[in-house]
Amino acid sequence: MRPTILNPLFADVTTLPGVGPKIAKTISRLFNRSGDDTASSGVHIADLLWHFPFTVIDRSLRPRVIDAPENTVVTIALTVSEHRPPPRHNQRVPYKVRCFDDSGELTLVFFRAHKDYLQARLPIGETRLVSGKVETFDGQPQMTHPDYILTQEEFDAFPLVEPVYPSTAGLAPKTLRNTVSAAVALCPDLPEWQDENWLARQGWPGFLACLGSVHSPARLEDLEPTAQSHCRLAYDELLANQLALGIMRNTLKKASGRSLAGTGELRKAIIESLPFNLTGSQTGALQEILGDMASPERMLRLLQGDVGSGKTIVAVIAMAAAVEENCQATLMAPTEILARQHLATIEPICQAVGIKTALLTGREKGASRKLLLQQLAAGDIDILIGTHALFQSDVAFHDLAFVVIDEQHRFGVHQRLALQAKASAGTDVLVMTATPIPRTLTLTLYGDMESSKLIEKPAGRKPIDTRVLPMDRISDVEARLAKVLIEGVRCYWVCPLVTESELSELSDAENRFAALCARFPGRVGLAHGRLKAREKDDVMARFQSGEIDILVATTVIEVGVDVPEATIMVIEHAERFGLAQLHQMRGRVGRGTGQSSCLLLYQHPLGDIAKARLEILRETEDGFRIAEEDLRLRGAGELLGTRQSGTPGFRVADLAAHGDLLAAARDDANLILNRDSKLAGERGTALRILLYLFERNEAIRLLAAG
Ligand code: ADP
Ligand code: MG
Repeated sequence: MRPTILNPLFADVTTLPGVGPKIAKTISRLFNRSGDDTASSGVHIADLLWHFPFTVIDRSLRPRVIDAPENTVVTIALTVSEHRPPPRHNQRVPYKVRCFDDSGELTLVFFRAHKDYLQARLPIGETRLVSGKVETFDGQPQMTHPDYILTQEEFDAFPLVEPVYPSTAGLAPKTLRNTVSAAVALCPDLPEWQDENWLARQGWPGFLACLGSVHSPARLEDLEPTAQSHCRLAYDELLANQLALGIMRNTLKKASGRSLAGTGELRKAIIESLPFNLTGSQTGALQEILGDMASPERMLRLLQGDVGSGKTIVAVIAMAAAVEENCQATLMAPTEILARQHLATIEPICQAVGIKTALLTGREKGASRKLLLQQLAAGDIDILIGTHALFQSDVAFHDLAFVVIDEQHRFGVHQRLALQAKASAGTDVLVMTATPIPRTLTLTLYGDMESSKLIEKPAGRKPIDTRVLPMDRISDVEARLAKVLIEGVRCYWVCPLVTESELSELSDAENRFAALCARFPGRVGLAHGRLKAREKDDVMARFQSGEIDILVATTVIEVGVDVPEATIMVIEHAERFGLAQLHQMRGRVGRGTGQSSCLLLYQHPLGDIAKARLEILRETEDGFRIAEEDLRLRGAGELLGTRQSGTPGFRVADLAAHGDLLAAARDDANLILNRDSKLAGERGTALRILLYLFERNEAIRLLAAG
């Protein structure tokens, strides 16, 4: 149950004054959310608290007319001398109001003005404080549509420094500002959840004061992520994150595991059947994983390795160890395609040694699903591969002992929390991820989880020839393609996503598809996120089988499709993608034995950072190095391939700026949970509020269950 003190903050934004369903809907776009029905926008008042201004308009500059700089916001005390309405029937001529101060004249200009309003607002002979940008027209200073026209009294009550929020089309800045300000005003005084000594040492004010200072900045510097208030709020969020992960870990560890030592027979048979030798990294990772499984403690381990580094076979061998103990194992993939692909890889290996595998996704229905579930419950299936459909309530295993979660590049601490809470007690958990992540990020995403890394590439892989080319060389690229397609080569062609608002110069996937179709009729397919899952699978399958040999795609191919015959990767507008994302996409080629190449096409002009990023890709294929560089150059949001800035899963904290606070938050969380594992004490109660505030409630559910 949410602490009642937070109720006002978890009401829908439509409960705020001046926010109707229409504005709420627009606001929900700011948070990438849309309400599922008309009554709710999907945005809570609390969401607005974390919507920080990105700059300010400073109205403290008070020049005389003669000194007013152009195109800078100024506030000038002006006396009104004359109103000049436009001639009747010609509304295109603006309404002008002539004003002066002791240094000169200035004209206020209004298009489509309301005469009555202006006459009331600017009475002749009176002095008003007028705020806006001055420009010169016909040698005369003028101000078009001033931002504010205020009396002295109004001005005295007015903030000189006005926050400006990231907005979206159709949302007036004033409306957004007023809405956020109303949200902040609703925030109750909450009990302090931070340690007083720590606050004093850092010089951090209370939560409410920090929130106030971020939303009512006195100067531009107050908005820096390194400002005291911002740091405190970031630390609040990091602490909530580390507490949630700590609670999850405690819960999982407490459910004591079982020792899965196995006989080694199946594993030996599998390893002998492979047409290759395991790499040193694979053997090392397996040793760590099998060690965890054999120990009576519950296993919780991360297996990190680039796309193509050979994680799947490591997972199969580990699952075989569970099967040797007559237990079941399951592998959950993030998408339908990947689940099927895993089955295609794993089934033959398993069949050869007598391990029974099966597939369960959202598409298995009716009688066949029923039969599958029966076999599963009877223990006739050893390894079940699937999507999140695996965790539907009617899926019951005979004896599930080992769970592998293949996250690829999708990180969802929330989902993971939910899912691991569902897994039956005592199961060992291995999480596989294809994004090499720096330590700081591992901590926020996984907490203190043990981790194994696959660093070597499987033997026989040739390095990918990576080139960086300007877009105007595209016809050369097409000409080369025409040559190599004859030799049976297949090619991915990636275009950036197009959002409706930026239709402009971007060559979107559909246009490229049309152009390539004209040149290579019948041989080109198109895959993008707006296709239905079935259509997408279909075009992928046609590419896989060689029916088509050019696949134009948005980033949907990023999520591990395996087509060894594809040896060319063309990426258009490479400058628009994150570095790690480019690296992942490049990993789609170089999977077979042929020489592969990756062409990064960029649009002029290329900024310094963009240039540096593409250069790194050309230099190295080391995912861990690329990850560190990406974090350094662009911040975590890019690294994890999410489009929003900052760190995914975080509203306030940004590891690029607050990474140093993370270790402190982790230690703090450990200390807190050692002392009060149930968060039952006075500080514990306050910390529960913190967890709810940052929507880490799943952790509280675990506390209640554990
Ligand atoms: P990941 O899951 O890490 O993306 P996969 O497990 O799909 O990588 O492996 C990619 C390809 O490399 C597969 O075709 C697999 O059979 C092959 N492979 C895995 N390990 C080795 C190895 N040690 N030597 C040669 N090829 C390997
Ligand atoms: Mg894989």
